[in-house]
Amino acid sequence: MIIMHVAIFGTKPYDRQFLTAANAAHSHDLTFFEPRLDSATATLADGFPAVCAFVNDRLDADVLARLARGGTKLVALRCAGFNNVDLRTAERLDIAVARVPAYSPHAVSEFTIALLLALDRHIPRAWARVRDNNFALDGLIGRNLHGRTAGVIGTGRIGALVARTLRLGFGCRVLAADVVEDPELVAIGVAYRSPAEVIGAAEILTLHCPLTPETHHIVDAEAIARAKPGLILVNTSRGALIDTAALIDGLKSGRIGGVALDVYEQEADLFFEDLSNEIVQDDVFQRLLTFPNVLITGHQAFLTEEALQAIAATTLENVSDFAAGRVLRNAVGTAMLRA
Ligand code: NAD
Repeated sequence: MIIMHVAIFGTKPYDRQFLTAANAAHSHDLTFFEPRLDSATATLADGFPAVCAFVNDRLDADVLARLARGGTKLVALRCAGFNNVDLRTAERLDIAVARVPAYSPHAVSEFTIALLLALDRHIPRAWARVRDNNFALDGLIGRNLHGRTAGVIGTGRIGALVARTLRLGFGCRVLAADVVEDPELVAIGVAYRSPAEVIGAAEILTLHCPLTPETHHIVDAEAIARAKPGLILVNTSRGALIDTAALIDGLKSGRIGGVALDVYEQEADLFFEDLSNEIVQDDVFQRLLTFPNVLITGHQAFLTEEALQAIAATTLENVSDFAAGRVLRNAVGTAMLRA
């Protein structure tokens, strides 16, 4: 077994716990760094052939060039999305990139449904009221999911589970948009339409496509103008799928009935850190928090024990594959940008 020195960025206690446990099967030399990877911290990786990064680590051309100078040959992402990596530059610098394509789609799909129910049935507001001995129900009227039209954009691993749950579990009418149709979803009555048609017909819209130039701001002012009044929007995929300024306008006009977000366009400046003693400078985010019908969590849809175990195991398998010169099963390359 070839031991790799791995610089692990943006680590939290749970990363150390699960990666250390999974490393028993590999014996790599893991060095945990708390700071996120960016141009200021990239020098920490000097001399490490492998770098392990997460969703908000920045792997742009500058950072990759710095990593290459320090001898890094592998970027092992401990996440599925790879929109934060400049893949063209990585290829040019001969840095391999691997990811964890599917660690637990159930973790994210279940959290998506949890957010939808919490928002639509006003559970956080009800919880806060009861803690204040306020047992009044005014303002807490929800809607049944049964019989409503749900739109799912992206029916890959996560979106397919969400579509299935909404269709079979709750009895929604489900419309879906994807570049490839899933015949198993069609068999249970999910109807594929164009993204524009799905957005226009949905009462509930949930986003599960990756962030690409094509899907960037897929929910923008124009889409919101075409949406049904009172649309409930859920995003557990990537923040920049939604134009946040347009979203705020939609909330102010009442066109959007409620929003549940686990991801946010500018989340890299906020999420995963305890900023409770600081003044948050992001006025857009602060405005979002003022709406009674907005529910935000800090990118935690993936955070289950099962998912963390699977992420750690696959990340270290990717490192071992690379170290042994085996085919990198979970490689990410520029060809996937055109897929
Ligand atoms: P996946 O690759 O299995 O599925 C993505 C689907 O989107 C595919 O079926 C693909 O064909 C489709 N798609 C691509 N371009 C599209 C377009 N223009 N319009 C419609 N559909 C399009 O990915 P997944 O595992 O289901 O993950 C989905 C996304 O969830 C990831 O890209 C990631 O950004 C996000 N995610 C978030 C968390 C979290 O903690 N919040 C965790 C894991 C993944």
